[in-house]
Amino acid sequence: MKATHIEHLGIAVANLEESIKYYEEVLGFKCYSIEEVKDQKVKTAFFKVGQTKIELLESTSPDGPIGKFIEKKGQGIHHIAFAVEGLQGALNEVKEKGVRLIDEAPRPGAEGLNIAFLHPKSTHGVLTELCEDPNN
Ligand code: ZN
Repeated sequence: MKATHIEHLGIAVANLEESIKYYEEVLGFKCYSIEEVKDQKVKTAFFKVGQTKIELLESTSPDGPIGKFIEKKGQGIHHIAFAVEGLQGALNEVKEKGVRLIDEAPRPGAEGLNIAFLHPKSTHGVLTELCEDPNN
């Protein structure tokens, strides 16, 4: 598998608006995009930090994945996302190596990327997202 860089860090937050304020007013980043991903029951906010992004995730429903995560663990780092070349090929390869996949095939994520998640039970506790820009 060829991963080129950390595409983003996903951070679960209880309140998107308040969290954006912290990232903008304290850390000095600029939120350049807010997007709802209905499929995942989340609202996301994006910041650029060099070529890596921060993705803040607020749940739009208590029974969504972020809602459940916050209920269990509280706010905090939720996942790490690596940019890969050839997402389906990368999924096939890690599956062959015994990694449990959450997504067997790429699906549309925020920012126009195709994404797929690997199960944290197979990745030493880190929910891992692989993503690919279909326009690259
Ligand atoms: Zn993500």
